[in-house]
Amino acid sequence: MVAQREWFEKDYYKVLGVARDASDKEITRAYRKLAKQYHPDANPGSEERFKEISAAYDVLSDASKRKEYDEVRASGPMAGGFRPPGSGGGSGEFHAEDLGDLIGGLFNRGRNRGSAGPQRGADLESEIRISFLEAVHGVTTSVEVVGEATCTVCGGGGAAPGSSPVVCARCGGSGSVSDNQGFFSFSQPCPACRGRGLIIEHPCPKCRGTGLENRSRQVKIRVPPGVESGSRIRIRGRGAPGRNGAPAGDLFVVVQVGQHEIFGRKGSDLTLTLPISFSEAALGAVVTVPTLDGSVSLRIPPGTKSGRTFRVRGKGVASTKRGASGGDLLVTTDIIVPSQLDAKQRAVLEELAHVLPTEVRNETKSS
Ligand SMILES: [Zn+2]
Ligand SMILES: [Zn+2]
Repeated sequence: MVAQREWFEKDYYKVLGVARDASDKEITRAYRKLAKQYHPDANPGSEERFKEISAAYDVLSDASKRKEYDEVRASGPMAGGFRPPGSGGGSGEFHAEDLGDLIGGLFNRGRNRGSAGPQRGADLESEIRISFLEAVHGVTTSVEVVGEATCTVCGGGGAAPGSSPVVCARCGGSGSVSDNQGFFSFSQPCPACRGRGLIIEHPCPKCRGTGLENRSRQVKIRVPPGVESGSRIRIRGRGAPGRNGAPAGDLFVVVQVGQHEIFGRKGSDLTLTLPISFSEAALGAVVTVPTLDGSVSLRIPPGTKSGRTFRVRGKGVASTKRGASGGDLLVTTDIIVPSQLDAKQRAVLEELAHVLPTEVRNETKSS
């Protein structure tokens, strides 16, 4: 309604400083010059003037609106037929009801400096569970990431299907405008297009023009060999997409490594508990010890205690660092005491007990 009234009251040609028969080119040139000069970001307090300039351009740059405007003006106050404010509501032929909203929308967008310009995408974090052997050997798999992702409807462009963005009139598609303030010229992201250089006239219904939506997606990840539980792997550029052409954020994947039936991990060393019998411990033995890729023979010297650790070199986890040698296999003995004895075993053990020294506790203390 306000806009309609303005058609009577405002001389848009005068506002833009152009002749009544100015060409489209002249009108656009005049508008750009004034919009730059009076943009409220560059020139606080010029909001009303900027609105006026935008309103004038909106009408005069559109051939059919301009024709209507010229007709209204011809029958308007200057022609003696001025309708007082508020009484012009019935004049449906002006089709300008949305003009005020449109300008307000543009205006607010321009003022919202915080969201203007390219903005790097957020870093996202996800978690992945892999098996013990996958951690040792490395694995290529995919991880589920929940968060901002490229809109599936518009492909991130932000325009509704069947439409496409148009080049921003304010910055000519460059995405930046410069403000001249005295001797200085500041370049800043174009507030009209938020630095994109494009204006989305028909925003995508799914993402409302942002090009982003919250959903889950699968991201391929290569877990290097030797990764430890709790490690964070950074995948550059696979976080949330950037806004207005800015780069995407990074994805951080926390790796949880599962247990192995027999092996444990201590950094790049593998650990293994090796059950041995009392006689093997006392007499010594050569036992077969499993490794990741087969087995090795390990010599248990006579008199080996429970809990003694033997190092098998080079049978640990390959190092993640280039050039560094891999880890070792740490084998720790565990002497198994039989829980059940048959008659013969019992007899032999009892005989052994008679001949073994009885001061075992003293011996333990002194060694
Ligand atoms: Zn979309
Ligand atoms: Zn622009």
